[in-house]
Amino acid sequence: MNAFDSRKELAALWDRLKLPPLGDGDLDARSPIDGQVIGRVRSASAAQVEQAIGAAHEAFLQWRMVPPPRRGELVRLFGDVLREEKEALGRLVSLEAGKILQEGLGEVQEMIDICDFAVGASRQLYGLTIATERAGHRMMETWHPLGVVGVISAFNFPVAVWAWNACLAFVCGDSVVWKPSEKTPLTAVAVQALFERAMERFGSAPANLSVVVQGGREAGAALVDDPRVPLVSATGSTRMGREVAPRIAARFGRALLELGGNNGMIVTPSADLELAERGITFSAVGTAGQRCTTLRRLFVQDGIYERLVPRLKTIFAGAPVGNPLDGGTLIGPLIDGSAFEGMAASLAQAVEEGGSVTGGERLYGNSLPDAFYVRPALVEMPEQTPVTLRETFAPILYVLRYDSFEDVIALHNAAPQGLSSSIFTNDIREAEFFMGPAGSDCGIVNVNIGPSGAEIGGAFGGEKETGGGRESGSDSWRAYMRRATNTINYSRELPLAQGIDFTLPS
Ligand code: NAD
Repeated sequence: MNAFDSRKELAALWDRLKLPPLGDGDLDARSPIDGQVIGRVRSASAAQVEQAIGAAHEAFLQWRMVPPPRRGELVRLFGDVLREEKEALGRLVSLEAGKILQEGLGEVQEMIDICDFAVGASRQLYGLTIATERAGHRMMETWHPLGVVGVISAFNFPVAVWAWNACLAFVCGDSVVWKPSEKTPLTAVAVQALFERAMERFGSAPANLSVVVQGGREAGAALVDDPRVPLVSATGSTRMGREVAPRIAARFGRALLELGGNNGMIVTPSADLELAERGITFSAVGTAGQRCTTLRRLFVQDGIYERLVPRLKTIFAGAPVGNPLDGGTLIGPLIDGSAFEGMAASLAQAVEEGGSVTGGERLYGNSLPDAFYVRPALVEMPEQTPVTLRETFAPILYVLRYDSFEDVIALHNAAPQGLSSSIFTNDIREAEFFMGPAGSDCGIVNVNIGPSGAEIGGAFGGEKETGGGRESGSDSWRAYMRRATNTINYSRELPLAQGIDFTLPS
């Protein structure tokens, strides 16, 4: 790999984005590209998180009275700022999260896309008019702003996940307190500054409409436990979801959970194998296997196994691994050493469980001892053993043979997680069955594309241990509002529902 200095790169990007100098703090921001500390921020104490929530609540009280299309105007302006700064912010995402520049830029594009979507939604926060059983009455539902929305996000989509939540929350009349991943604090600083730039252009948005609190679990926990936060949208591991969901439930808050995935793909005999190869490779090794939607379990029918799997081994062995900011690189580094240890431990377990591993070795360890680059691993498994049913957040693809279509559906659905899934087939019966009620049990079910790389227009999220949340497109906006059912009597009578007779004695 060419020499690279992540601190220099950060300084240049900070300059380009015209951000105020970073102060000091207790939380190190590292670039996984070379493992250097590139900046520090200060973690918020529980009291500071409490204060931030109070300030965001004050902002909410004003913002909820602003008409939704006007709220949409702020998000439109934010989309403009993002368009202006797409290149610099995309590079910063690559620098801090380690994804290749194409994906860093793609993540910012996703923010722009959700801005556009939210602006449209700001004129479409529709309620229903409902048939009433009483004469001279009208029944309808209205949607109102909810309050302070807490967003807890993961390192692997350090800016897009916030945008999915925040852009909808803002048009819905809410304020947002964001606790980014402690592994990617600087992208959050940058995004907050860019949002404030949009607020300045807008002119009349209340201060503290968007607040960032930095830190680890403790800062997140303060958000989770505060009754002034009616909705917590938490993205991260299933372990995190297990901790936060009962705490939010205990105070009757709403939780929108976007947790771990263990996504499968079935390749059937009629599949276009050339298409499948590309779909498999992008979804298994893209983002160095660190997407919630990464392909982790590949089921290949016996009859085509020998045509597909050797090809995949060759492709995996040749995929360029390196500095994610260099053109031509397809696989950047893992986020840190613990991710590498997790990968090594899973590979060792896979071998114990009868797997045969191709790839998976560490690269550039001598020249870059603090950065963790790996060759993606393809692991042929004799059956779906415990290691394959666990999410390891690294580029490991478990490959399994199957014989009958019925059996493979059951195998596919045996994972405890239920985020994304896909099938490669040209058989319409198989495709439709997979998307039907007895097919894949995931929140995302694709045909002839891989499980990763969703568009913002659809509702994003999954079932089972993935947590059941849906965010981004479709009608996900409803999670950020409260629904009121209104019944209006314009008659001179007072008929009761269900025909109840409650005549007062005369
Ligand atoms: P993580 O669970 O370690 O951390 C995620 C966030 O939760 C961080 O901000 C962290 O500080 C916070 N957190 C952790 N424990 C907490 C607690 N007890 N209380 C409050 N906050 C807490 O996850 P990660 O390593 O950053 O990200 C990888 C994981 O995220 C993977 O499992 C991946 O599948 C998942 N993920 C899911 C989605 C999705 O949409 N389903 C998207 C991205 C990532």
